[in-house]
Amino acid sequence: MNDLHFDTICAHTGTYNSASTDGIFDVTTPLHFASTFKYNPTGELPTGFNYSRHDNPTRSLLEEHLAQLEGGAAAAAFSSGSAAAYAMFTSLNPGDHVITNEDVYIGVRHMLTDILTPWGLKVTFTDLTNIENVKNAITPSTKLIWTETPTNPQMRIVDIATIVSLAHSHNIKVAVDNTFATPVLQQPLRLGADWVMHSTTKFLGGHSDLIGGALIAATKDQWWEKIKHIQHIAGAVQSPFDCWLIMRGIRSLVPRVERHVKNAHAVAEFLHNHRKVEKTLYPGLSTHPGFEIAKKQMKDFGAIVSFQVKGGKQAAVDVVKRARVFTCATSLGGTESLIEHRQSAEGPNSQTPDNLIRLSIGLEHADDLIKDLTQALS
Ligand SMILES: *Cc1c(COP(=O)(O)O)cnc(C)c1O
Repeated sequence: MNDLHFDTICAHTGTYNSASTDGIFDVTTPLHFASTFKYNPTGELPTGFNYSRHDNPTRSLLEEHLAQLEGGAAAAAFSSGSAAAYAMFTSLNPGDHVITNEDVYIGVRHMLTDILTPWGLKVTFTDLTNIENVKNAITPSTKLIWTETPTNPQMRIVDIATIVSLAHSHNIKVAVDNTFATPVLQQPLRLGADWVMHSTTKFLGGHSDLIGGALIAATKDQWWEKIKHIQHIAGAVQSPFDCWLIMRGIRSLVPRVERHVKNAHAVAEFLHNHRKVEKTLYPGLSTHPGFEIAKKQMKDFGAIVSFQVKGGKQAAVDVVKRARVFTCATSLGGTESLIEHRQSAEGPNSQTPDNLIRLSIGLEHADDLIKDLTQALS
């Protein structure tokens, strides 16, 4: 059946419906830990597998599911979101130009400035919420626009369809880091993007117990072949066990995201009305500059809420210190709510305002989260 709802497809991820070699029908997929697989002396691979860096049955199953979730043609799973991004950028050539968000995830910023710029990549960081900035940044060697939306951690909303139509008119490809939105809320390939990237560490894994990443291609073209080649040859592949855990995470993705988002709305409303909060950065608030675009391209607004407190850096750090239900830790997308003073987490090259706190809203009762923030802000 291929007319199933997205929820059903998620719930069935990594469930098994053909007999394994020993005739046993597992309801959930067996885990293939093997690094190497028996093949014919003449070189043919009877099962299609020969070595787990190239392909592994558990990883291949995850990749099939990831492609399906994003409406893509194929996917490649990497050992981290950063490794996925690195594969994307190194699939370009020295001298090629990339345009990305000025507040792109700090790890990707460092990758671009510290490793890939010396390697020969040209990079422009700009505010992609203003299409004029993109027009001005395009050069004859621009090959890729890499955008987050919502952005991490400033929660800016980039209009995917508008960026895609400008990019494609210049023969430029668009990759969307869909980590914050998840495919439950936003499917960039359906809006015309060429690539989707995920840090599967976050909502897809969903339980703060693995590091992973993926690239999903709209089409199986030459660029896809290059990504697959980099995955095989550079070798930053996802371990079978982590692939298995991600599939387990995806099975509950829809109800988790629904609850994450419901809680996030409640927390954002609370912060928005709090006298000690200068600004709440959540695209689900009608006062957010990206609200209309978010409404157009997302099913809902996600579970990351950033806010700026009155009183500057010290006041923000003090709020984090007082939190009890929220844990002070980086990352996001787990069942437990996290809080951090983002500039301290990002370090010296941070573009983040010094009074900004980023929350990852978990699956707790919303009242407990609001009570904790009430005392932390008082
Ligand atoms: C976490 C994150 C990354 C990096 O992923 P890792 O799995 O930590 O390497 C990239 N982009 C966004 C938006 C992220 O939140």
